[in-house]
Amino acid sequence: LINKFSGIFKKLRSKGKLNEQDVDAILKELRMVLLESDVHYRVVKDLIAQVKERAVGKEVLESVTPGEMVIKILWDEIRKVLGGNVSSLETGGAMPVLIMLVGLQGSGKTTTLGKLAVRLKNQGLFPLAISTDTRRPAAKEQLAILCHNSGIDFYDDTKALTPLQMIQSAILHSREKSYDLIFIDTAGRLHVEEELLAELKEVVDTIPLKEILLVLDATTGQEAVKVAQSFKEWVNPTGLILSKVDTDARGGAVLSIVAQTGWPVKFAGVGEKVDQLEVFHPDRMASRIMGMGDTLTLIEKIERSIDEEEKQKIGKKFGKKELDLNDFMEELKRVKEIGSFDEIVGMLPGNLRGGISQIDGEKNIKRVQAIIQSMTPAERTNPSLINSSRRRRVAQGSGTTIQDVNRLLKQFEDFRKLWKQMNRTGKNPFSKRKGW
Ligand code: GDP
Ligand code: MG
Repeated sequence: LINKFSGIFKKLRSKGKLNEQDVDAILKELRMVLLESDVHYRVVKDLIAQVKERAVGKEVLESVTPGEMVIKILWDEIRKVLGGNVSSLETGGAMPVLIMLVGLQGSGKTTTLGKLAVRLKNQGLFPLAISTDTRRPAAKEQLAILCHNSGIDFYDDTKALTPLQMIQSAILHSREKSYDLIFIDTAGRLHVEEELLAELKEVVDTIPLKEILLVLDATTGQEAVKVAQSFKEWVNPTGLILSKVDTDARGGAVLSIVAQTGWPVKFAGVGEKVDQLEVFHPDRMASRIMGMGDTLTLIEKIERSIDEEEKQKIGKKFGKKELDLNDFMEELKRVKEIGSFDEIVGMLPGNLRGGISQIDGEKNIKRVQAIIQSMTPAERTNPSLINSSRRRRVAQGSGTTIQDVNRLLKQFEDFRKLWKQMNRTGKNPFSKRKGW
């Protein structure tokens, strides 16, 4: 996607006001980018119309290109559709606060409940977990084990025959033990069924719930939109939790779901582990959908981590010439020092992420180092000198394979592109410094 955006940047150099022709040309390409990210075509159509209306006639700032202006407007619009600001969980009110999770079977309710309970417990609250799946003992068992493993209290009343009785029993128990909140796990079905919805509706109509959170599997795209519509009719959820966002690489399904339901997303599940739940950030998600990765967060993180002196040193080097393999090596080492490598890799644009994550691990970094050291100084500064016979030599010299060498050179090319892009958009933390 970076390549695509670069194309857009190149095409439009004219300054002054954005004219309709220019805007149309950029939007034509942006439309493709969004469709390729799996955003539903109707959502794309609305977004593009919105951006066009805002962009045409707009003054182009001195410091940016028209392409960048339009991309910024699109980013703004996507962020708005995604909810604008972070939407938090309601936990205030009379104790115990009741939070119910609903959704299809396999959507991630039980897992998410564990994650939420742990999160709130870490914030100093005292949560209790129950399951109203009175028909499937295995479902209760799963929650009980999850709670046991993560230090959350689980309550069960075998005499309760309906979800309603179960919740009422838990409320009494909770008053005795002074729990702050009760997380209610519910039964799911493989498909939307009236019986399930009617059962949930009975609970919703009888018991004052603070939050009814619909858990949607982000990987199911349009199917999730339909599920959301059915649940809306019956139980009117207060918000969404999108699970398995980690497996929806481009995030387009997320945008489709939110645009078409108009509901706030409160959290995003980003893995199976109990701590893999994130507050949903519309701005970061917007960057991800546009293929820009979480560049802003990445930059902030890098900026914070490198002290001034170090910055100046690197700044001098990177500000003046193109990145070479020596720099790449240093950069890799730094990325490893900054913190969790995976975390940083996750913020990179998708196409880069795949490549870079293969370098993860001390052993792989050593291998990369060996390869680079087997090159001549001239080759390190100018990798295009490395033809196929040199590649073979470098592989032999470093005890690796030609494939390893090829992969490294490809990764380096990707990295160099990102670097250039950051410079161009003024987001390169090193270029922001004065004097160069
Ligand atoms: P439920 O039937 O709605 O209660 O769904 P479960 O909580 O049992 O989850 C179904 C499957 O999805 C399990 O294998 C979970 O580990 C997995 N899962 C849930 N949330 C996530 C997530 O955010 N990311 C990933 N990768 N897997 C998840
Ligand atoms: Mg479950």
